[in-house]
Amino acid sequence: MKNAENIKFNLPEDLKKCIEFHGHLCPGLVYGYLVAKEAITLLKLKRSKDEEVVAISENDSCAVDALQIMLGTSTGKGNLILKDYGKNAYTIFNRSHKKAFRFSRKRYYRYGGEFEEEFSRLDQAISSDTASEREKWRHKMLKAKDLLSKPFSDVFSSKEVDIVMPPYAALARSEACAKCGEMTMSTKMVRGENGKRICIPCSS
Ligand SMILES: [Zn+2]
Ligand SMILES: [Zn+2]
Repeated sequence: MKNAENIKFNLPEDLKKCIEFHGHLCPGLVYGYLVAKEAITLLKLKRSKDEEVVAISENDSCAVDALQIMLGTSTGKGNLILKDYGKNAYTIFNRSHKKAFRFSRKRYYRYGGEFEEEFSRLDQAISSDTASEREKWRHKMLKAKDLLSKPFSDVFSSKEVDIVMPPYAALARSEACAKCGEMTMSTKMVRGENGKRICIPCSS
């Protein structure tokens, strides 16, 4: 990892694994990491080999990568559901315990670290679009460090919620599209001209 100059990081091993997968350390990744850790505690989770742990992310940001590594949820297994709402909120649940928690970032994030002055100066530069690449990077590192040092409840609110169990990943037979001939999951096909069953790309 790039040397963060005078910012001292003491990164836990599991976060290092997330960084290895994601490619860099950033506040988004830390959000996902913190949520996953809290969910593991609250729901007594083990990393999901199968589909018993399900994560619903209300954004498609860097945070999602930490959920994949920490919880073993993945879109391929169908237990990671992305909703593109642009919200820093996540619902994690365990099918076997039928318990679910929704974590949502608190309205006000207050930087509380030892670099407070520098942070607000960088913040200002970023909002007025005058920050250099280096300043933007440093702002991210300071924020990541600060997030890691805060109690979870300062960053996210946690709420137990009722869950609507999503179905297990659907297994459906495939058939050839009447237009392009490519094999397509039958449940994803649509009716084209003359009522022929075709794939979505062929229908537009
Ligand atoms: Zn990132
Ligand atoms: Zn087709």
